Amino acid sequence: MQLVDQDIENAGRESTASVEGSLPVMEHFPTVQGEGAYTGHAAYFVRLGGCDVGCVWCDVKESWDAAAHPQHSIAEIVGWVQASGLGIAVITGGEPLMHRLGPLTDALHAIGVRTHIETSGAHPLSGAWDWITFSPKKFKAPLEDFYQHANELKVVVYHKSDIAWAEGHAAKLSEDCLRYLQPEWDKRAEMSPLIFQHILAKPSWRVSLQTHKYLGIP
Ligand code: SF4
Repeated sequence: MQLVDQDIENAGRESTASVEGSLPVMEHFPTVQGEGAYTGHAAYFVRLGGCDVGCVWCDVKESWDAAAHPQHSIAEIVGWVQASGLGIAVITGGEPLMHRLGPLTDALHAIGVRTHIETSGAHPLSGAWDWITFSPKKFKAPLEDFYQHANELKVVVYHKSDIAWAEGHAAKLSEDCLRYLQPEWDKRAEMSPLIFQHILAKPSWRVSLQTHKYLGIP
């Protein structure tokens, strides 16, 4: 879906409907998206607890145990987003698709907020999404559906072999899906030059940097 600035400005200004259900929330905060096509856009992040993917380099391992995080009602979560006045909600984790997310995305759309998700694709898709960031991991294979549903593929490059692995995923994507290579933060000095060389050779790829980390924001 194409981003329209007016949609973002107008979002979040309608009334919050009451909604059933709850989700485990590790943290939630307004920030500037640091990765992928929406880099630089203000967004409200909701990090859900629960992940069974097990990436060795995971920088949010404390998210893995869903039971360690308090349940919040969907109405409460939507209330945080609405109070922020921001037009994009990014639902991340953990692996957010371990939860059934249809009620949350319906409630966000009801207040005019765009719904974005960041997922490994290891669990079935639920919810209605305006933007799907598909970030497959070697540690738990993604479901085939995601190659068609994704708006952007984001592969974290931790080892030089990850670039060839990324090409394997890219070959299965829909034509209009964007392709990003992102150096793993602790390996960025080593991996960034390899990524830049690859993008020069294969310009359908773009680089994604974790700009929020450079800026020192969440
Ligand atoms: Fe961590 Fe995300 Fe991997 Fe889960 S999928 S282990 S949250 S990096």
